[in-house]
Amino acid sequence: MGKQNRSFLRSANFQGLLVLSLVTTIGAFVLMNNEKPPQYIVRPVQIQPTQSVAPEWRSALENEILNPATAEPTQDIPTVEYLPPPTIPFELPSTVEVFDVQDVEASPFPSSTPYPTLEIPATPIEYRGATPVPSPEGIEQDFSDATAVAQYAPPLEQVPLSLQPNDHFYMIRPVDASANNEQLFYYPYGSAGQVFRVHHGIDIPNPIGERVVAAQSGTVVWAASTAQDVKEGVLEIYTVYGNVVVIEHDFSIGGKPVYSLYAHMSAILVDKGQRVEIGQVIGLVGDTGFVTGAHVHFEVRVGVNSYFSTRNPLLWMAPYINHGVVAGRVVDSSGRFVDNAIIQINRGGRRVDSTTSYIQPKQEGVARYHVVPDDNWQENFVLGDVPEGEYQIVALVGQQRYTQTITVRASMVNFVEFMVGPAAPATPIPLESGEGTEGN
Ligand SMILES: [Zn+2]
Repeated sequence: MGKQNRSFLRSANFQGLLVLSLVTTIGAFVLMNNEKPPQYIVRPVQIQPTQSVAPEWRSALENEILNPATAEPTQDIPTVEYLPPPTIPFELPSTVEVFDVQDVEASPFPSSTPYPTLEIPATPIEYRGATPVPSPEGIEQDFSDATAVAQYAPPLEQVPLSLQPNDHFYMIRPVDASANNEQLFYYPYGSAGQVFRVHHGIDIPNPIGERVVAAQSGTVVWAASTAQDVKEGVLEIYTVYGNVVVIEHDFSIGGKPVYSLYAHMSAILVDKGQRVEIGQVIGLVGDTGFVTGAHVHFEVRVGVNSYFSTRNPLLWMAPYINHGVVAGRVVDSSGRFVDNAIIQINRGGRRVDSTTSYIQPKQEGVARYHVVPDDNWQENFVLGDVPEGEYQIVALVGQQRYTQTITVRASMVNFVEFMVGPAAPATPIPLESGEGTEGN
């Protein structure tokens, strides 16, 4: 059959109509279903209000800032500190926080709700239609955006979400669900790439002016420009953040306060000391500070509002409906983390996602750039938003290839461990010089 005689059923017009009708039908179904949300989300009970007066961690923070072994070196402090990587036990530590899971809370997004799985054609179909565009408040109709199909992402699970004891998906994404809310794939938490500093957060690219929202309710404890950071030294002496907001949340974990940080904004729309609610707009996406393009840099900090106390945000933000999170660790025969291993997750012979295990710089002077594993999971890699199902997961360590089969269950962390041969020699990474290195 030549091009001239191609059947209507195969034509782009028909396929466009097919997708349009599919989206409209499912959108209507989701909206209909949205009216009577089933009850299924469980809430971990150990969410405690944090102390509001003179918390102990403040003295810890002061010590940390004053301690040259961990503080960012200046011209006067030589970069000589080096700490060997920690020995990580194979078993979860006995101090692992175990939540009592009880209470049931309504969710407008039950896991059983089907959502449109769209095959995005090479040339996106442009139309104005009833594409359901999720938002933090629920599913909304958006008739105004002709590129809605290309931007479509499944709805997010409602928070707090903790289907198993160690999970703590308490946060939403720091941008509207209708915006891009996937992280920059080549610069995950704990990675360094070739030229960047070890990443203490994740980067979510969006156009300048896109709304940045609070990932959970809390109190704004810092909202300032780079100049004010430098002047007051609240964020240690890191000056890469540009316009930045830090929120101390209403809950704690294991008795430790939890913070979230939003950087590089073009505008800050809240004040220090202000109360904010989950989903509230706190600023606008920008490219202030050291960046290569407009994005929001998002950090989660536990215990202390400090660059040295970050955790992987992918273990705090609820995944998409019908998606799970894969966390794991790559360790050598001594139980020590193996860093910079390439982790791939494949399905049906196709790569679904990849990341690297957290960098542990072994050069003198860069120990301070270690990132911290999750208190409950003790992981050194995380893959977010993996559709539920069976996968082959691969760890590439030096010339060795290790594989496992894993079943990813939705709405929870799925843990995997690789015990590999002797650790490969450290891959040197460039020593950052001053604050000029981009990537944050
Ligand atoms: Zn970043």
